[in-house]
Amino acid sequence: MNYPTFQNLIGGQWLPAAEGKTTLNLNPADHSDVVGAFPSSHGGDVALAVAAAKKAFATWRLVPAPKRAEVLLRAGILLQSRKEQYARDMTREMGKVLAETRGDVQEAIDEAFYVAGEGRRLFGQTTPSELQNKFAMSVRMPVGVVGLITPWNFPMAIPSWKLFPALVSGNTCVIKPATDTPLSTYNLVQTLVDAGLPPGVVNLVCGSGAATGMAIVEHPDVRAISFTGSSQVGSLVAQHAAATFKPVSLEMGGKNAQIVLDDANLELALDGALWGSFGTTGQRCTATSRILLQKGIADKFTAEFVARAKKLTIGNGLDEAVEVGPQVNEGQVETSEKYVAIALAEGAKLLCGGHRLTEGAYAHGTFFEPTVLGAVTSSMRIAREEVFGPVVCLIEFDTFEQAIEIANSIDYGLSTALYTKDVNRAFTAMRDLESGITYINAPTIGAEVHLPFGGVKRTGNGHREGNGAIDFFTTWKAVYVDYSDKLQRAQIDNAE
Ligand code: NAD
Repeated sequence: MNYPTFQNLIGGQWLPAAEGKTTLNLNPADHSDVVGAFPSSHGGDVALAVAAAKKAFATWRLVPAPKRAEVLLRAGILLQSRKEQYARDMTREMGKVLAETRGDVQEAIDEAFYVAGEGRRLFGQTTPSELQNKFAMSVRMPVGVVGLITPWNFPMAIPSWKLFPALVSGNTCVIKPATDTPLSTYNLVQTLVDAGLPPGVVNLVCGSGAATGMAIVEHPDVRAISFTGSSQVGSLVAQHAAATFKPVSLEMGGKNAQIVLDDANLELALDGALWGSFGTTGQRCTATSRILLQKGIADKFTAEFVARAKKLTIGNGLDEAVEVGPQVNEGQVETSEKYVAIALAEGAKLLCGGHRLTEGAYAHGTFFEPTVLGAVTSSMRIAREEVFGPVVCLIEFDTFEQAIEIANSIDYGLSTALYTKDVNRAFTAMRDLESGITYINAPTIGAEVHLPFGGVKRTGNGHREGNGAIDFFTTWKAVYVDYSDKLQRAQIDNAE
């Protein structure tokens, strides 16, 4: 079989894993299509990458931030010219349809342009000193070497949300992509190199979570970890990072609710629900996985929603006519199957889908039918646990207050949506829904890079990406300049 072999980037050099092992990256729409072989790295490779990043930090932190930003600006422009190729690479390795992978690359472009502007801001504060002839200010400092660990569902956008703010702030990076999608991160890193990023400032180390990811988390010279992935792994990452007192930014799972009130524009709510539930084959942290329906519109909405879900075209995302691509791997299909079985055992009703697709064009991929489950109550596991597949459940309610209670009754808190024309209820929901993101009359998916992105409860640990990322990738330093030419004492009574 003919396929390319890719390497890690360490200290500006493309290198195989020290042990020489590789992992194959397969097209989830057709497993006979091998995208490439990527390094299976271990602690030794990570140690080299961290040493290279540490060396590069000595000079990168001194490059003026507006100059650092220029590299990101050039990277954004290069990404624009490479968008179609990178989108096709991404669909091949990850499965989602071309319109969405083009959107994923576009998000990296948007992030590059947004963060490049931050190079001329990175504002600190000045404040009056309590003493005469003394000047007081606070300035942002880079953290040092940062470790970045990313999932497979937004394989270029999410790495860009971490790399670009880390870099403009003066940090150097070691990044580990998910084993299912290393090519898109490789393409992003290659673009940064072509844009003029000096050697060692970004180091790419491919490999498994347990061997490569954990080695980054535990390395004493890594000063902070930014992780996006499941809540289960996020908890493990935070526990291990605590041993060396690393700050950790965690962006994790979701179980996102779209609420539809009786007065909603039903067409709009249906469009939003379909896109939110089955976009990216349901494999978005912000995917709609619970649709809460007020009883007055529930029957009508359900009939129409199921009819539309049945009509979705499933197939290889490289075909422009396809609306729903494969799931990323066999494990994800098994999870979808498992949760359908759990839901049915607990009393839910299968309204459409529910099975993997194995015949004809689907025979060599990991496809699962768009699935709608009815008669679900908020205590069932299907209403509480993340599936991360094209599986959505419908829950009916009587009053607006009940809807808010059901939406909030889970452990996650990433995204919520409310469809209504009642402005009072819209504002009440904006206040009362327990989630990091709330949409009014728009689906649960569709974040923009310059707003805070993240969640509450088991979805996150308080940090934000988007316009919150610079806060994570910098630390504050307080600076006092005394120009009185005499000893002036603070923190003492009667200072004079
Ligand atoms: P995952 O947790 O399995 O893996 C995420 C990353 O962590 C991968 O790079 C993986 O190799 C690495 N990893 C795994 N075990 C590790 C360990 N022991 N130590 C260090 N690293 C380890 O998640 P996934 O399957 O890649 O992605 C799906 C999950 O990500 C879903 O739960 C989804 O909701 C979540 N997600 C969240 C957001 C968000 O911003 N909130 C965005 C996208 C995806």
